[in-house]
Amino acid sequence: MKTSVVIVGGGTAGWLTAGIIAAKHCSKDTMLQQTDVTLVESPDVKNLGVGEGTWPTMRDTLRKIGISEREFLTCCDASFKQASKFVGWSKGNNEHYYHPFTPPSGYGAVSMADHWSSGDKSANFETWVGAQGVICEQNLAPKLPQMAEYAFSLNYGYHLNAGKFVKLLHQHCVEKLGVKYIQGHVEQVMSAENEDISAIVLSDGESIAGDLFIDCSGFSAILIGKHYQIPFESKRHILFNDTALAVQVEHASNEVPIASCTVATAQKNGWVWDISLQNRRGIGHVFASDFSSIEQAEEELQQYIKNDPCLAPQQVTPRTIKFDPGHRKTFWHKNCVAIGVSAGFVEPLEATALVLIEKSAEWLSEQLPRSPSARSVLAKRFNHLTLQRWQEIIDFLKLHYLLSQRSGSEYWQEHQNPDSIPESLQESLSLWRSQVPGLYESNQRFELFSSASKQYVLYGMGFNTAQQPLDQKEASLIKRLQNETLYNTEKLLSALPSNRQFLAKLRTK
Ligand SMILES: Cc1cc2nc3c(=O)[nH]c(=O)nc-3n(C[C@H](O)[C@H](O)[C@H](O)COP(=O)(O)OP(=O)(O)OC[C@H]3O[C@@H](n4cnc5c(N)ncnc54)[C@H](O)[C@@H]3O)c2cc1C
Repeated sequence: MKTSVVIVGGGTAGWLTAGIIAAKHCSKDTMLQQTDVTLVESPDVKNLGVGEGTWPTMRDTLRKIGISEREFLTCCDASFKQASKFVGWSKGNNEHYYHPFTPPSGYGAVSMADHWSSGDKSANFETWVGAQGVICEQNLAPKLPQMAEYAFSLNYGYHLNAGKFVKLLHQHCVEKLGVKYIQGHVEQVMSAENEDISAIVLSDGESIAGDLFIDCSGFSAILIGKHYQIPFESKRHILFNDTALAVQVEHASNEVPIASCTVATAQKNGWVWDISLQNRRGIGHVFASDFSSIEQAEEELQQYIKNDPCLAPQQVTPRTIKFDPGHRKTFWHKNCVAIGVSAGFVEPLEATALVLIEKSAEWLSEQLPRSPSARSVLAKRFNHLTLQRWQEIIDFLKLHYLLSQRSGSEYWQEHQNPDSIPESLQESLSLWRSQVPGLYESNQRFELFSSASKQYVLYGMGFNTAQQPLDQKEASLIKRLQNETLYNTEKLLSALPSNRQFLAKLRTK
């Protein structure tokens, strides 16, 4: 029996989900095809059009969908992202640390972080355990030009133009993967006797029936929210930011560096993101409206832009995006699954939205229900896993704030209020005071943030874990790893091209 999957929404969530499901289930041979995928997009509701930083998971997603890396990089003005760089988060003195995508050297075999905690801490943690922070400081690419697509010297994701990415996915899904595209505004939802959605009805009266409906309608949440009324759980008492001001700014020339990392610079009542693409930068201020007016936030944003000589002097008018940080109570109800902003959204720190879309769509694609009884079991598991992931995201983002020693701002001080810290995070913190997060930190098979990520943030922010005595064998292994890191860093520094060189060469190939 054929399964009809209907996706409502043509933003990044809709097209990534369509691509991931169609690549696995929609055979070119229509006789063999067990699944068809239809995507419906309103001509009246615009996509979010932001969301420009990805995780390394995107390499795998693009490869599986069948998009070449060269096509992606050139069509989406994309560049490489190897890390997040946090400026001024710890003390507010313009100091910085990196959260790179490559784990510390020896990760899994020996805990370098244990030794760091007991050492003199004269270097940054990430520089002490790997090359990627230094490579990012020099704006170098994560790979050599002759390397195969998606292969790397240092693990990487991307920075991309969100509008162009949607266009590329749309074209690829329709032309190469057989996804059916319908433009139309969903106005009505038809229910079967068992309360499943039987069909959606568009404003021109066209009715589209299906077996599984995926709500990718963004903040409209037309199926999971408006139709099924699944409650939304706000997390604003934990993560205070609820407003973003977004702009696009030209590079000062076509010679200025293209950064290898997303730069997140702490501000009085929030932080500024800065994403470097081939032809421009995407910059924005995320802040808490309880602590700052839009005018104050805009002033800080304009100042940030004015102070950077690598940006062309220009008048920019930011776009304001308001949001309630949080997520649905459940994500799969009856025959409806919510993926993307309709399922939930929190501030873009650590770029967790696109990766959650990829992971949710991948899970669904692997476990596409084959019978009604299978569906209820799968829904229960999907809800459990997705809720765990949201809790993990919220704890990890909160960690960035509560470790701060910035003073002179109520916003930063309030982040340390125990009432605003989830119990799960308080528990982890008490553990990390006596032992570093290691391989056995989580019992989850599908965790988003490894213990390596937690180490980078904890020790980047100056957190102290009690010293561990090292035996002779471990000490000599750590010395060897340190020497290897120094050697690798030097080798990569002399071998890797700059991002700008790499990407310019790609366009002339
Ligand atoms: C300021 C900001 C910065 C961000 N930065 C990052 C980042 O760096 N990295 C990251 O991973 N994520 C980031 N995100 C999140 C990212 O932008 C979103 O996760 C991503 O764009 C997916 O959005 P979406 O497809 O769920 O929703 P949208 O893009 O809003 O798409 C919704 C779709 O639903 C359609 N629709 C709505 N109503 C109807 C209807 N009635 N009938 C038919 N169709 C309908 C619309 O037409 C549209 O096509 C950021 C978000 C914000 C706000």
